Amino acid sequence: MKLYLCGHGFRYETENLCRVFFQNEEIEVSNDASGFGSGGISVLTKTEGNTLFVWARAGGREQTREKAVPADIDDNESERELLCLLFSALSGLTGYVPPWGILTGVRPSKLMGALINELSYDAAKRYFTEKLLVSAEKTNLTADVALREEKTIKTSQKNSFSLYVAVPFCPSRCSYCSFVSHSITGNKARSLVSPYVELLTKELSEIGRIARELSLKLESVYFGGGTPTVLSAGQLGVVCEAVEKSFDLSSCREYTVEAGRPDTITKEKLKTLKESGVSRISINPQTMNAEVLNKIGRKHSPRDTLDAFSLARGAGFTNINMDLIAGLYGDTTESFAESLDIIRSLMPESITVHTLALKRASSLVARENAEAPDGSAVAVMLKAVQEKLPESGYQPYYMYRQSRSAGNFENVGWCLEGFECIYNVFMMEECHTVLAAGAGAVTKLRSPNSGYIERIFNFKYPYEYISRFDELIERKNRIKAFYAT
Ligand code: SF4
Repeated sequence: MKLYLCGHGFRYETENLCRVFFQNEEIEVSNDASGFGSGGISVLTKTEGNTLFVWARAGGREQTREKAVPADIDDNESERELLCLLFSALSGLTGYVPPWGILTGVRPSKLMGALINELSYDAAKRYFTEKLLVSAEKTNLTADVALREEKTIKTSQKNSFSLYVAVPFCPSRCSYCSFVSHSITGNKARSLVSPYVELLTKELSEIGRIARELSLKLESVYFGGGTPTVLSAGQLGVVCEAVEKSFDLSSCREYTVEAGRPDTITKEKLKTLKESGVSRISINPQTMNAEVLNKIGRKHSPRDTLDAFSLARGAGFTNINMDLIAGLYGDTTESFAESLDIIRSLMPESITVHTLALKRASSLVARENAEAPDGSAVAVMLKAVQEKLPESGYQPYYMYRQSRSAGNFENVGWCLEGFECIYNVFMMEECHTVLAAGAGAVTKLRSPNSGYIERIFNFKYPYEYISRFDELIERKNRIKAFYAT
């Protein structure tokens, strides 16, 4: 499709909103409107004096919108008004009314929380529905999440931080995955694991030293990836020991390890994690349908998930999260509902429901040229989630959105009372510093006074992490400099 921008510079949001309506289209952006309407999907957005215009054409149909705005309107408001016109024109053209309105950002609940503080609970909800055109259903969900997040955020101490530890290896690569994670089925990636673990412990030691010197208080630890439990029990023990030796864990309230792939979980690894103080693990089936698992390139069965879950309970884990994905290839609304029923019958302490987001780096897009799945089926799946999980006692406690997700929906963490994952909330709401170790990890420094955020990036790939380790450690000096200002 072609998108023309005339008289304004609101490219990022207009392009994002067009992508919501035309998920599988490549968008070509131009400032020269002379080619408008020359074929295919054509959208022209224009500001001229105090008037905003949108023309949208596709398949012989056309929608036009025009609105006069106050002369003293600021850029943000002007952009919002233009997006509302664009939303209206594209809805008229396609018949689709996206439930998130013109909102395309990653953190809707953070915005809702800020609006509640600034306006009031009711006024914030009205702003969502009237100014951002968000549906009543998504507005209520966001407001629910924002209130719960606020409670969790209040428990965080000043000068606190969370620790993120990246293990970017997996037993095999899922076809929808766009993370930097290496399948260890190949010898090349497998040979990186041991040197990686060794350097990871050194980085943890260095970060721990800095955190102690700054008297920062560790509130949560999160091992993610990848699949941390792809490491052997011995390697997991080594990394956990490095965490214990490098950091003061006396104020740590949550210690999560993603044991994402059920086929990596063993009794021995669970014992190691338990003895190392890990309090929460995540076992992620994504689906309980064997055919769908096969289609997405997972090498485990639904039975493996059930076995891993009971093994974890047997090992004493009383806080388990399970992830599901709505919109997987080959999944139907019925098979998704069955997966949901099986998972909720297990009563894990939290269930996170993601919407499939097809990024360019996934093999589905890169190799198979797959298109985004049907958004209307995903809508039905998410509706089932919203009905069934509260029936089982789960409440939504955190949320985020991703670009290129099926139907432009959301990812929501649901939990039983008192089992909110504090790391998820702190990280998503950016309310304190996250010190991060490992390849692809991003340290996010947050000023406790001003809220200003600065990021330090580690090298993305394990081989770079290993070969340029000294450089990466050097970058960590920035942490002290940040806190000194
Ligand atoms: S388990 Fe997660 S990180 Fe690993 S390949 Fe699958 S989606 Fe990617």
